[in-house]
Amino acid sequence: MTNPLLSDWNTPFNLPPFEAIEDAHVKPAVEAALAEGRAAVQLIASDPEAPTFANTIEALERSDSTLSKVLGVFYGSAGADANDTRDALMREFSPMLSAYSSEITSNSALFARIETLWETRDTLDLTPEQARVLMLTYRSFVRSGAKLEGPQKARMAEIKSRLATLGTGFGQNLLADERDWFMSLTEADLEGLPQFVIDAARAAGDEKGADGPVVTLSRSLIVPFMQFSPRRDLREAAFKAWSARGENGNANDNRENAAEILRLREERAKLLGYPSFAAYKLETEMAKTPEAVRELLMRVWAPAKEAAERDGAILAEMMAKDGINGPLEPWDWRYYSAIRRKAEHDLDEAELKPYLQLDRMTEAAFACAHRLFGLDFEPLDVTTYHPDARAWNVTRDGKHIAVFIGDYFARGSKRSGAWCTAMRSQQKLEGDIRPIVLNVCNFAKPSKGEAALLSYDDARTLFHEFGHALHQMLSNVTYGSISGTSVARDFVELPSQLFEYWLEVPEVLEEFATHAKTGAPMPRNMLDRLLAAQTYDQGFATVEYIASALVDLDFHDGDAPADPMVAQAETLARIGLPHAVTMRHATPHFAHIFSGDGYSAGYYSYMWSEVMDADAFEAFEKKGAFDPETARLLEEHILSKGGSQDAEALYTAFRGRMPGVEALLKGRGLLTA
Ligand SMILES: [Zn+2]
Repeated sequence: MTNPLLSDWNTPFNLPPFEAIEDAHVKPAVEAALAEGRAAVQLIASDPEAPTFANTIEALERSDSTLSKVLGVFYGSAGADANDTRDALMREFSPMLSAYSSEITSNSALFARIETLWETRDTLDLTPEQARVLMLTYRSFVRSGAKLEGPQKARMAEIKSRLATLGTGFGQNLLADERDWFMSLTEADLEGLPQFVIDAARAAGDEKGADGPVVTLSRSLIVPFMQFSPRRDLREAAFKAWSARGENGNANDNRENAAEILRLREERAKLLGYPSFAAYKLETEMAKTPEAVRELLMRVWAPAKEAAERDGAILAEMMAKDGINGPLEPWDWRYYSAIRRKAEHDLDEAELKPYLQLDRMTEAAFACAHRLFGLDFEPLDVTTYHPDARAWNVTRDGKHIAVFIGDYFARGSKRSGAWCTAMRSQQKLEGDIRPIVLNVCNFAKPSKGEAALLSYDDARTLFHEFGHALHQMLSNVTYGSISGTSVARDFVELPSQLFEYWLEVPEVLEEFATHAKTGAPMPRNMLDRLLAAQTYDQGFATVEYIASALVDLDFHDGDAPADPMVAQAETLARIGLPHAVTMRHATPHFAHIFSGDGYSAGYYSYMWSEVMDADAFEAFEKKGAFDPETARLLEEHILSKGGSQDAEALYTAFRGRMPGVEALLKGRGLLTA
């Protein structure tokens, strides 16, 4: 029998044949793809012909096409729909894949060919994109240790494989802790909660097989619970469970994991001759150095902390008026902040929510993409990896551009958070390959027959991930390795954060924020209040974020801490984190930096990108939010370009210059603070 992961798909848009793919197909497919990749790499390395760009770099780009095809499907769906078998496969694959990539980068015959090309690059008559791919390939080999020899080389391979295992384990521990915990609520405990929280708690209870409503650790349930539950004891219990993820002293405890990861990262950087892991990691980013990162974060920290302290004092006073003595605690902030927001902006999340229907907000994102870039979205009647995941055919002037999959509802098998991933990336080396792009979120699933409703934060998340999706879908490069979101980490959030601004364009909400029951548009004064409230509580949001970003930077800049929890406490004490604010992600559940390498020494990237997105949207504001010429420049210089040029060059081509930090401070309402 043929393995559907390996066969020619012959499906509409060459979509994976999900209905035929079973878990049992995955491992044999990965093994076959690895064997094929190894054979291809061996052919390149032993080629008797002198190295050329085509027989070495392009051949290398092609060598893993089957592997990318198989892994794209497996990881694309397993992250959103895990089970024990898939978890076990991921644990098994991570050292296998790490060994495979180590094998390639430590293949000295192969590296010799790449090095020859690199040294003679000026004579090769390369296109700018080819020159870029050669540079990136050479650099990634060197950074992987291609120049190491003997025991150092062996040690590097060992470290990488161990790090891959630890990273996978970190994420799985976190998911297990999140899956296991829930808090049962009695009918009396529901008092004071808005209907949508009650509905979500009941739906979560059904999903957990509990005997009634529950609070889980899913962000879209626990955050509104802490905003609205008048029961301080319940808020405290929920908050403590939420912040203890990965730190429960059980089999899922991540603290030792984190410590070992930091030690190995430091060792890895030093083997390569860098003073620290941060220096190694930031070399390929826009920021370039830890000092540049620290400068940006501290520049924003001072006004943000001032704002948070002012706000905290007001909230503490409100709490005292409720007859509660003692300091404002982290489980009090969101509750009193929601009351204050309602008082000052008369904005009630529960009143707002019926106007933010998932389906309408999805249409809003599509409509913006249509007005800006001429994209059309047509629902596809196809089977995906899960019944909740829906697919659309994305076209422009009738031409197929991409398949977009939106998988929006929380479920136990999905890891927390929201993300965008490409099951297949755009490239032109092997024909006009069009991408399959996924947006995965964790919005509360409605009860049967009800419309799915979002919070405003959820709606922003939807737009954010859709911005990443546009970066993938509009990609127009030749080589898959630089396609779509394959850009510097501190540049990758620019398209996503920029797209969030269109949610705040009044005409978008006017058209798409319609009431789930009555169909009436959002009342004008509610819309005005909503938009005016966008800078509300930005002190808190900025402080919890920068605290995490600085802890991440400190962990990786200098020697690895013996005890990360102690180091975390030291950093927080040094910057003076206000008592009632905690890190957005504390170490034992800081998946961004420990579950894989993605955001290590890189959590600052969101803010680095924000400096640009705030400035980029100003370009639209000057000429109109849907100005076609500005949209064209954005697509031409940024969204279509992937990593084909240095990020600074891309931004400068779009905007004519690099931005300062002012637009960001203004956007967060911190400029006058
Ligand atoms: Zn993002």
